[in-house]
Amino acid sequence: MDKGKNAIITGSTSGIGYGIATVLAKAGCNIMLNGFTDQATLERLKKELSVYNTKISFNGADISKASEVQTLIEKTVEEFGSVDILVNNAGIQHVDKVESFPDSSWDAIIATNLSSCFHSIKHALPIMRKQNWGRIINIASAHGLVASEGKIAYVSAKHGVCGLTKVVALETAKDNITCNAICPGWVLTPLVKEQIEENAKAKNISIAEAEIELLDEKQPSHKFVQSDQIGDLVLFLCSEAASQMKGSIISIDGGWVAR
Ligand code: NAD
Repeated sequence: MDKGKNAIITGSTSGIGYGIATVLAKAGCNIMLNGFTDQATLERLKKELSVYNTKISFNGADISKASEVQTLIEKTVEEFGSVDILVNNAGIQHVDKVESFPDSSWDAIIATNLSSCFHSIKHALPIMRKQNWGRIINIASAHGLVASEGKIAYVSAKHGVCGLTKVVALETAKDNITCNAICPGWVLTPLVKEQIEENAKAKNISIAEAEIELLDEKQPSHKFVQSDQIGDLVLFLCSEAASQMKGSIISIDGGWVAR
C-alpha cells in the first residue's frame, strides 16, 4: 500500500480500534480517530501516534447517530482530502437473557454495531468510487458466525455485519474497492474486561480465574488475540495482495469457530 492513505477507524480511542490505528499510522496512513474519550487520553493517544509522522486527527461523532456518521465522513474529506480506508470498529455489548433484555440496549447495540456500518459505507462509497480505490473493513466477531447465550443484540448485529459486508462486496466487485469482515475471538480490551469482572463477581471467583474460564469456554488456543494482530490483518486487507478478497469473513479467534 502506498504511504499517505487516509483512514477512518471508528471506536479507535480504545482497544482493538487503537491497535488498528497504530498499525496503520506505522504503515504511513493519516488517521482520523473516533470514539468517546476525555481530553487527556486523547492528547496521550495523539502523542503516541505522532511518532509515525503522519496526520493524526480526531472526530468525536457518536456513530450510533446517522447524521453524525455522515459528518464524520464529510469532515475527514474536508481535512484530509479523501477517505481511502474505512474501518468500522466501534462496538458495545450488553449481556442479558432475551426476556429481560432492555429494549434500549437492543436499540443501542443495533445502532452502534450494525447501522453505523451501513451509514458510514453509504457516505464513503461515492468518494471511493470517484478515486477508484477503497478498502472497507468491518470488525465483526466470532459472534458474527456463531452464537452465545445472553447476547441477543450483539450476535444479531454481528451476523448482520457479515451479511452487509457481502452485499457491499458484490456491489463494488468490479471496482478497485474491497469490503471484508474480520471476526476476532476474545481480545483483552475494556469491553471484555467488563464481562470478566461481572463473571468474577457473579461466581465469586478471582479476575484471573474468570479470565481462564472465559478462554476455556470458547478459545482453544487459551490465549487472547492481540489488538495489533488484528491491525496487521487490516493492513494486509489494504495491500495489493488482498485486492481480490471481496466479501471475505476472516476469523482470528484462537480456534473459537473451528470446533
Ligand atoms: P472497547 O470498548 O475497548 O472500544 C470500543 C470503542 O468504541 C471505544 O473507543 C469507544 O469509545 C467507541 N464507541 C463506543 N460507542 C461509540 C459510539 N456510539 N460512537 C463512537 N464511538 C463509540 O472495545 P473493543 O473490544 O476494542 O471492541 C472493538 C470492536 O471489536 C467492537 O466492534 C467489538 O464488538 C469487536 N470485537 C471485540 C472483541 C473482544 O474480545 N474485545 C471480540 C470480537 C469483536
